[in-house]
Amino acid sequence: MPAEPPPRFLADRMVGTLAKWLRLLGYDTVYMPEVSPASVKSEARRQGRILLTRRTCFLNQKDMPPFVFIRADRFREQLKQVCIDLQLTVSSSLLRRCSVCNQELETIDRERVQARVPAYVWRTQSTFFHCRKCQRVYWNATHRERIIEELRHIGIV
Ligand SMILES: [Zn+2]
Repeated sequence: MPAEPPPRFLADRMVGTLAKWLRLLGYDTVYMPEVSPASVKSEARRQGRILLTRRTCFLNQKDMPPFVFIRADRFREQLKQVCIDLQLTVSSSLLRRCSVCNQELETIDRERVQARVPAYVWRTQSTFFHCRKCQRVYWNATHRERIIEELRHIGIV
């Protein structure tokens, strides 16, 4: 049996930081802070995404797409709630998605990023990734360790 595809998310307003962290974990997450309640519902349904929301008005509605009502104010508790509720795992896709625009990262030839990263980073790192949409360059090392440290702090890894 093929493995189930990972869930994809649509983040409603007020959960932008949560959206960024889900992307860091590798989950496809779009953030729609400025659309109406009716639109986030229909977009979540149309795109087959789980709606992450803090709107209490959704709690009494019967025609909701799959959604998670986010209880906490702080992103750490929010992320923990989503990970526990949906049994998300930190997989090999960790840090393989742009945290800014949700694009999957691609490896990029080391020679091509020399002018775009600090000299020390270029000298000490062998593998680089980039986002085709915003052109940001990513690399492992401290960035990755800091994120894993944060996830450990939350209790996810
Ligand atoms: Zn990007």
